[in-house]
Amino acid sequence: MWKSGGMATHTIALVAHDHKKDLLIEWAKNNKERLSQHSLVATGTTGRMLIEMVGLNVKCLKSGPLGGDQQLGAMICEQQVDMLIFFWDPLEPQPHDPDVRALLRIAVVYDIPTASNLSTADCLMSSPLFAE
Ligand code: PGA
Repeated sequence: MWKSGGMATHTIALVAHDHKKDLLIEWAKNNKERLSQHSLVATGTTGRMLIEMVGLNVKCLKSGPLGGDQQLGAMICEQQVDMLIFFWDPLEPQPHDPDVRALLRIAVVYDIPTASNLSTADCLMSSPLFAE
């Protein structure tokens, strides 16, 4: 369950496939102030881009194809992730498709608010639950 009430700091996980990285970076720039109030974790390349291009403080896991999605899945199982922003690419097969599928599956199992596109990410960020 998504934490609410009080001034909770959330942990937000961010992942973007290669053709979606520009989109995520742009979105993160537009939401930098809000994002910076929370703990951020990301797959390797996405995380490094968020650090270098947006200036956010991000814990970087392995790159997605090298197990980063599985690491995030494990964090979700341990209830260490409150929101998942995952801009996956619907137009390109990924070498780690089974991991992608597993991550999306486990996010549903643990009822993690998940955004796979820009408009849903905006909805999650502007939710009153998020501000609490
Ligand atoms: P990356 O991984 O951030 O290391 O590119 C993302 C992914 O492909 O799942």
